[in-house]
Amino acid sequence: MSFLSGFIAIIGPPNVGKSTLLNNILGTKLAIVSPKPQTTRNRIIGIYHGDGYQMVFMDTPGIHKTKTALHKSMVESALSAFHEVDILLLMMEMDSPDDPEILSFIGNLKGVKKPCILVINKIDKGPKEQLLPIIDRYRKIYPFDESLAISALKGDGLERLLYVLKCRLRPGPQFFPLNMATDQSELFLASEIIREKIYHLTRKELPYSSAVTVDTIKEEPGKNLLFISARIHLETDSQKGILIGHGGRMIKAIGRLARLELEKIFGVRVYLDLFVRVEKNWTKDTRALRRLGY
Ligand code: GDP
Ligand code: MG
Repeated sequence: MSFLSGFIAIIGPPNVGKSTLLNNILGTKLAIVSPKPQTTRNRIIGIYHGDGYQMVFMDTPGIHKTKTALHKSMVESALSAFHEVDILLLMMEMDSPDDPEILSFIGNLKGVKKPCILVINKIDKGPKEQLLPIIDRYRKIYPFDESLAISALKGDGLERLLYVLKCRLRPGPQFFPLNMATDQSELFLASEIIREKIYHLTRKELPYSSAVTVDTIKEEPGKNLLFISARIHLETDSQKGILIGHGGRMIKAIGRLARLELEKIFGVRVYLDLFVRVEKNWTKDTRALRRLGY
């Protein structure tokens, strides 16, 4: 028997639970999960190692019709995922089956001749009777190879989903070594964690105009300590005011939560240094975006 492998893109509107699914499948926190939409900007690759097979997952940002360069680069990265992968997993939530964005995803599926699986998430949130009509309706719009109902949060239906995916893998190489769960560097993970804490704590104007870059990660020899220095990029002084907070309380809280989580992930004590930098109009300027790695 030959080794089986495949690349799988998890696509769908923001907030349907794509990152939650990926994290649950992989059992670690890779993609950031936020109660606010649109927080996954970069594609995250997670690798699931099975016995004789390997699945490489990509979590994509939603496809949006927006004008800024930041959103444009998000859309492009989501669309390019369609062509780079072997299997597409289109995700929606049971609660909002009428989201017009789902139709625009399906529009993009046409012409991409790849197995496509419809996944209806968050079935823990409502009565199961809602499910059949939704599945029926979408199967009439597009010939999905399979349709499944899951709760990414609770784990319901994930075994079946993995089985369905495994059946569609084809003979192929083992792309990544067994001990690898993601291709994202520690730098990237660290910046994602810090960004997540900003989102959760500020709840204001910051989300779409903030970015985090990590300048240094280095181990202090003999001290079992990881030194991380990161910069938070903002657009305006007023955003900076929100981020710093009264007497520096907000930035301290962000730093503390991020540090605790980083310590869990890296398994060592962390010393976290945060700097704030104001750069006007960075979400609108493609050059600035590139410098920040988008
Ligand atoms: P993404 O934007 O598609 O990546 O969505 P996220 O994974 O970030 O999830 C968005 C929100 O939905 C978070 O608050 C999750 O906890 C929540 N969520 C995800 N899956 C489920 C689920 O199966 N059930 C419920 N009740 N909530 C979920
Ligand atoms: Mg996400």
